[in-house]
Amino acid sequence: MENTADLIIVGGGIIGSSLAYNLLNDGYEGKIIVFEKDKMYRYSSTPRCAGGFRQLYTTKINIQLSRFSLQVYKQFSEKMATKDAKPEIDFKQRGYLFLSTAKMMTCFEKQWELQHQNGVVPSCWIQVNCWT
Ligand SMILES: Cc1cc2nc3c(=O)[nH]c(=O)nc-3n(C[C@H](O)[C@H](O)[C@H](O)COP(=O)(O)OP(=O)(O)OC[C@H]3O[C@@H](n4cnc5c(N)ncnc54)[C@H](O)[C@@H]3O)c2cc1C
Repeated sequence: MENTADLIIVGGGIIGSSLAYNLLNDGYEGKIIVFEKDKMYRYSSTPRCAGGFRQLYTTKINIQLSRFSLQVYKQFSEKMATKDAKPEIDFKQRGYLFLSTAKMMTCFEKQWELQHQNGVVPSCWIQVNCWT
């Protein structure tokens, strides 16, 4: 077999692997090779990830990426099922909390607006007047 590819992806962590998966899933017909130097993923970030998930990001691209991923997690079991197994990722949506001082509020307000513009509508303020 000729050792060539139409597309090479360097790094097989979550970004590289999901890129390869989604390209093929979206109908890309070329040959993709994912290069991964760390056979056991000993030093990669992906296996170290604690599993926290949020939509409260401060840039449009991160919010969109996160919201796309949310749908993937919700349907993961069904989408990744094979005839022999149905993977269970035990995904639970619990919400996320950021704490802010009075000084940080202007910044947080801008971020909240951006989140709402990008569909993160359940995000809201819980105000506790405990600063002096
Ligand atoms: C301790 C910790 C906890 C975290 N917790 C969370 C969390 O709770 N929630 C969250 O959303 N995020 C969390 N993260 C962040 C998240 O893990 C990363 O953002 C994500 O895994 C990055 O994925 P990646 O594919 O970009 O990088 P990686 O997973 O690091 O993958 C990059 C891959 O590229 C390979 N590579 C690099 N150079 C080359 C080369 N020249 N040739 C071949 N291969 C190469 C590396 O070996 C590596 O496997 C956490 C990160 C850490 C370290």
